[in-house]
Amino acid sequence: MDANPLLEHWTTPYGLPPFDQVQPDHFKPALEAGMDEHRREIEAIAGAEAEPSFENTVAAFHRSGETLAAVARLFHNLSASETSDELQAVEREVVPALAAHRNWVTLHEGFFRRLETLFRRRDLLELGPEQRRLLERLHTDFVRAGAELQGDARKRFAEITEELASLYTEFSQAVLADEAEYALFLESEEDRAGLPDFVLYAASSVAEQKGRSGYAINLSPSLVDPFLTYSERRDLREKVWRAYKARGETHPDRDTKPIAARIVGLRAELARLMGFETFADFALADRMAQTPSAVADLLEKVWEPAKSRAAEEQADLEAAARRAGADDTVEPWDWHYWAEGVRLAHYGLDESELKPYFSLDRMMDAMFDCARRLYGVTFAEVPDVPRYHPDVRVFEVRAEGSGHSSGGRAEASGEPLGVFIADNFARPTKRGGAWMSVYRLQSHNRARGPGYPIAATNNNFAKAADGKPTLLSFENVRTLFHEFGHALHALLSDVTYGYLAGTNVLRDFVELPSQIHENWAMQPEVLTKHAVHVDTGEPMSDELIERIRRAEQFNQGFRTVEYTACALVDLALHGKSRAELDEGDGLDIAAFEAEECRRLGVPPAIGLRHRLPHFRHLFAGNGYAAGYYVYMWAEVLEADAFEAFRESGNVFDPELAERFRANILSAGNAVDPAHAYRRFRGRAPEVEPMIRKRGLV
Ligand SMILES: [Zn+2]
Repeated sequence: MDANPLLEHWTTPYGLPPFDQVQPDHFKPALEAGMDEHRREIEAIAGAEAEPSFENTVAAFHRSGETLAAVARLFHNLSASETSDELQAVEREVVPALAAHRNWVTLHEGFFRRLETLFRRRDLLELGPEQRRLLERLHTDFVRAGAELQGDARKRFAEITEELASLYTEFSQAVLADEAEYALFLESEEDRAGLPDFVLYAASSVAEQKGRSGYAINLSPSLVDPFLTYSERRDLREKVWRAYKARGETHPDRDTKPIAARIVGLRAELARLMGFETFADFALADRMAQTPSAVADLLEKVWEPAKSRAAEEQADLEAAARRAGADDTVEPWDWHYWAEGVRLAHYGLDESELKPYFSLDRMMDAMFDCARRLYGVTFAEVPDVPRYHPDVRVFEVRAEGSGHSSGGRAEASGEPLGVFIADNFARPTKRGGAWMSVYRLQSHNRARGPGYPIAATNNNFAKAADGKPTLLSFENVRTLFHEFGHALHALLSDVTYGYLAGTNVLRDFVELPSQIHENWAMQPEVLTKHAVHVDTGEPMSDELIERIRRAEQFNQGFRTVEYTACALVDLALHGKSRAELDEGDGLDIAAFEAEECRRLGVPPAIGLRHRLPHFRHLFAGNGYAAGYYVYMWAEVLEADAFEAFRESGNVFDPELAERFRANILSAGNAVDPAHAYRRFRGRAPEVEPMIRKRGLV
């Protein structure tokens, strides 16, 4: 058998994964070898003669499993960003084995006994603050992964988590298949009525991906949204909207509803094993919010005001339809279309007037420039490194010299601060949405290889035709900065233990760094400098910037409703106890969704942003289950935090930026998030700035 590049020392620049050599069939043997190595390491720690100490137990545990972690990260990243039939087959095979391995570790009695001993004696161990935090977090995570369960409960816990892991794979593969399959070809001139050039460019590359000439609409939101906004063909808008909302249930043999129902049932059972009434109780116990009622309080503060706001918006849309002499019943596939008319009439703002100012390259320059001004870091592209797709771009991140302490980590070693990977375009082999993930966590406690991080952002922007610059919508620019904010959290991390690094924070804290960076994209001084017209080279005028600012709260009723409705449905779904779920014939996902929308009074012209059959946040993994609310929770922190910059009169205020870097971005999970926030702001967060920002006062 040929050598497996995954198991050799990665001699690539920056210790990047050997993207150009790796084949799908390398993964299974490499993951198995990584699991073997990890098992031997854990057995050695657990079986040591010496009394447990922080060093021989916690730090040693932290250094274990590095091969497995590196290979598994690469595998999960490629499965999300550049998958194939072969990789999907490997995924179905190895995901249960990986889940079983995680259980083997967290349910290892010998190791947990040592961890437990140290945890009980933690006051006597003379630990530094980060060491103590690591010990406490590990202990919490082991307990929440079933380490204290006995007998049948212990066995059942392992079975449930392993089955869940397979169900998550099944769910995401089914949704991706629905997305990849769909194309609406716009055959005639009339089919394309109203579509501006940038939509046509994007539609032509979709057709090309499908091996045909002409124009086609796929189910990428970055094409669906503009199509719904501009297409004058109401019948086609309806078609695309229906296909988009039917993802997950288009094919009877890969219907995701039974998968989702099974996931909900297993989670409720798992919560009961752990001594909680519902999965929401269990999940929230380890978040800032702590209880479902704290989340409900926040969501209820915005729900009714958002609905009234949306009703006003809908009346405006109906009036616009009447003025145009059209049917004034606003169906969900009409909302974007008439909203664009209202935006033009009320704010003089036309999305296609804006787009030429937002070329992807310029907006990437803008985000890099903001990072330089705030944190003193620079991004330099390195063109000649192996990558997994030609569209992927790789950047070396460095500290800009003195004046910014973000260089502390780098200056000592001469190493870069990190590596940033940007993967911006939609393609059929990539899952939908936008996300940041890491190939390597920052850590000073690594067994081998560089300790600086490799962070990657994935977007699904519609790529322009060859030779044309890709133009972003306003919403895309926000997304770009959002994911970049996550990347900065990973890249500026400065902790000893990678377990606590960067975005490894509590789930309802993780969207603070991402969401706050969206604000900088909208600053006049950033727009004047970077939003340059792609054809004329003219910077955006003050007058246009002013129109953008005035329109900031435009359509916020719609947005708040479609988001908050999802968060409320998520909370209700995971707020069902196992006993409740067992009544009747089990959970009918479609009926539950319809019933909840009725109960909440979700306006039919808006609906849910993510319907349950394709709600990846909830069913493609564990992280956001009973956790879709986290965006709004973090928005409270974000709006309150950005208010500090606004109050200072300088949104690039160096002292504030440094406090934000030191307490939030670099600290990762080494500090309790509520403390970290107070250290930055000098007080606890207030909810009013978020309410004001959304125009819901
Ligand atoms: Zn995010």
